[in-house]
Amino acid sequence: MNTFAAQFREQSLRLTRDLRHRLLIQNALGKYETQRDHRKAAFQDWQSARQAAAEIKWEAINHLDVHLQDFVSRIEARGTVVHWASTAAQARDIIIGIVRDSKARSIIKSKAMTSEEIHLNEALEEAGFEVVESDLGEFIVQLRKEAPYHIVFPAMHLTRGDISELFTRELGSAPTQNPEDLTMIARRVLRQKYINADVGLTGANFPIAETGMISITENEGNARLTAALPKVMISLLGIEKVLPRLEDLALFLPLLATAGTGQPLTCYNSLYGGPRRADESDGPEEFHVVLLDNHRTELLADAEQRDALHCIRCGACLNVCPIFRNVGGHTYGTTYSGPIGSVITPHLRGLQDWKHLSYSSSLCGASTETCPVKINLHHHLLQNRRNASRQKPSRIEKFAFRTYAAIVNRPGLYHLVKKAGRVLQKLHPLVRGTRADPAYGWTKTRDLPPIARQTFKEYWKDRNIK
Ligand code: SF4
Repeated sequence: MNTFAAQFREQSLRLTRDLRHRLLIQNALGKYETQRDHRKAAFQDWQSARQAAAEIKWEAINHLDVHLQDFVSRIEARGTVVHWASTAAQARDIIIGIVRDSKARSIIKSKAMTSEEIHLNEALEEAGFEVVESDLGEFIVQLRKEAPYHIVFPAMHLTRGDISELFTRELGSAPTQNPEDLTMIARRVLRQKYINADVGLTGANFPIAETGMISITENEGNARLTAALPKVMISLLGIEKVLPRLEDLALFLPLLATAGTGQPLTCYNSLYGGPRRADESDGPEEFHVVLLDNHRTELLADAEQRDALHCIRCGACLNVCPIFRNVGGHTYGTTYSGPIGSVITPHLRGLQDWKHLSYSSSLCGASTETCPVKINLHHHLLQNRRNASRQKPSRIEKFAFRTYAAIVNRPGLYHLVKKAGRVLQKLHPLVRGTRADPAYGWTKTRDLPPIARQTFKEYWKDRNIK
């Protein structure tokens, strides 16, 4: 077992037994579910909306080359500088280069999972720059020196008390359990950071090919300030995010808000098309877009799993996943957790190192059913398992399946083994683990029901005799 898999197992075992942690997650997601269902009911036909979104994303991804070119030529025509980054390292170098060239010292960021993916904050800090997250949840986890817990709710694992203690310790504020007071404490700190920042860095929800614009949807107004106040704006986006037409937003914005947070629409929806024009009073003087590949084109080349690129990062699959709800986001050890993380992380970081995530699923299909763009998530998890074992077959599994095939193909032998199994099963403590490692045996967390005393055939035979 590799280190990542061992860490995952150790954390999962610990957190599934941590009732406080589980209660926090259940409470947070319980409220989300009620709101989401209420908002879904407001759609004329939620299933048709999902189907339409899946088809638009299919078109966008299957003609990605054309849509990206359109997006780039149109946004460049308005004075934006577009950079292409094949790898995470290239993206970091490009951004550090822009920050250096602009003689910046401080960077304010709005939420961007792509920046988590390339470990941008660490790289910028190592290069000597101050980086401040402006999304409230991200600001909190940054103060805790933690990664976001969830792609939409980064601090969902914390209580008001935890946040109050953190602010008292890190910001010197008076303790309070009042959410408005806690928000005001963060707001006061962040306002000054905005004023001091030389560079604003954002992600993007939907780049639009037709107009060469970037759509950013948010609830706090922090992305707007990040884009409007500093002299230089950088937008880091995955190449798969592009949508063909502006009118597609009419479907995708409510769909994302409903699936992501159970809102009809998020509070702020903005479109950015380039640097400040001569007749405009605010906005950046320089506007850079960094288009990140980082293994996305490899996934694009995989016809079977290409639709994983349809993801709009709403987080809904995490919210319904029984594994995520028990082990939480940090256990995954990846930027993208939950079902979508388990599908794409092996592509982004290596199949053999991360294949264990594809097994951390009950294959119940809840994520597939909830995904607003209809990604067949549980099927992709099975494909990852298959690909991993094809790439590096396990000798034990090979031996086990060959033996099984040899037995079931010979009725006489099968009959004998069944009988032997009833006796041998009594030795089942053997499968509980070794003496050296008794805690991790197969039956530690699973039942091993006894083999029935009679097979159906035997039962039928007896019954007829009587
Ligand atoms: S896979 Fe679907 S449900 Fe999960 S985050 Fe992406 S769009 Fe949302």
